[in-house]
Amino acid sequence: MIRAIHGDALLDPATGESIGNAVVLIADGRVTKAGKRDGTQVPRDAESVDASGLTLLPGLIDCHVHLTSLGEGLDFARELTTPPTFELMRAVRAARRTLDAGFTSVRDAAGSPAGVKMAIEAGYFPGPRMFVTVSALSQTGGHTDAHFMCGADLDIPLPDRPYSVVDGVEAMRLRVREVIRAGADWIKLCTSGGVLSPGDQPHHSALTLEEIRAAVEEAQVQGRKVMAHAQANAGIKNALKAGVATIEHGIWLDGDAIEMMLDGHNALVPTLVAPHWVIRHAEAGKMPSYAIAKAKAVIDDHRASIKLAIESGVTLAFGTDTGVGPHGSNGEEFLLMHELGMAPLDCIRAATTVAAETIGMKGVGSLEPGSWGDLIGVPGDPITNLELLAKPENIRLVIKGGDVVKSSAA
Ligand SMILES: [Zn+2]
Repeated sequence: MIRAIHGDALLDPATGESIGNAVVLIADGRVTKAGKRDGTQVPRDAESVDASGLTLLPGLIDCHVHLTSLGEGLDFARELTTPPTFELMRAVRAARRTLDAGFTSVRDAAGSPAGVKMAIEAGYFPGPRMFVTVSALSQTGGHTDAHFMCGADLDIPLPDRPYSVVDGVEAMRLRVREVIRAGADWIKLCTSGGVLSPGDQPHHSALTLEEIRAAVEEAQVQGRKVMAHAQANAGIKNALKAGVATIEHGIWLDGDAIEMMLDGHNALVPTLVAPHWVIRHAEAGKMPSYAIAKAKAVIDDHRASIKLAIESGVTLAFGTDTGVGPHGSNGEEFLLMHELGMAPLDCIRAATTVAAETIGMKGVGSLEPGSWGDLIGVPGDPITNLELLAKPENIRLVIKGGDVVKSSAA
């Protein structure tokens, strides 16, 4: 099956160049040619997709989502009455909304077992290409310890989603092996406290340097990298010293941490939009008071920290923590990155070329021959108007592996 997608323009994020009267040819899911219509031989049996009025660009990549999280605030009574299978089914709707927002690839930062990715690959339901971390590992009382002071524990381990809480070097080695056995593409650690967890603080570090090192080592020997939920300055530095690849959130970066990131070629995944959603949910009465207080306390420092990283030339990869906010709202992050000084093209690269490189997913983030036929169409030039990528209704066309998965009239 060959498809020919005819658009008004084609934006290549790698070069920043846009060409008019474009055509993208996709054969058996892979791009064979993307360029000007003049001079492109369109095979006679190609099925034509009319994308007139639209600028085409590679499908977007979100490096930090949680497809099994509802994204509608935290309601513990609701969580207590949600069977694990129903929790899993949330991913079906979230996957559809993510795709509709133009995100054809994601890295799930915990919650989704490998089965979610496998079901999408098998075509059971539409969704983005996925890398999964399965479980986010934290220390006792840490970010993903779901014990509450009443004694209840909301983290129910599943056969294919190992328990999140782990302490000690040897226990960490075993747990990382278990997570890899369950199908994780990446390992997720929490090297600091966080906003939505009841018993810890974002400015406190978590896990020892030795524990983090053990996890990185175990990941490396099996060809995986580690992403660290790292908000506290000490938690960021421990993660970097131990050799993690990506820093998530990065609320309290300083000059030394930035130097370490530049030296180690680490990427920062800012998730600027996440604390905004905590506050919005809170205003709608859908957040416990401890989370509101913590979100309000970090939001300005978070912005200042990411701004410093941008100005210092740290690599930023696009990530939203969606699942805190509603699925499909991912694109708002573009506006927040731009607000802090990132040029529109750099914002787009963060969600295409840079994201693909950061998470190590092959054949995404670009439309060069051999890439997956994943692309989107928006009504105008996103370089002059980033809003076009910020709202799902502006994403008029979504193609994944050559198949039209969303098409809406202008
Ligand atoms: Zn997260």
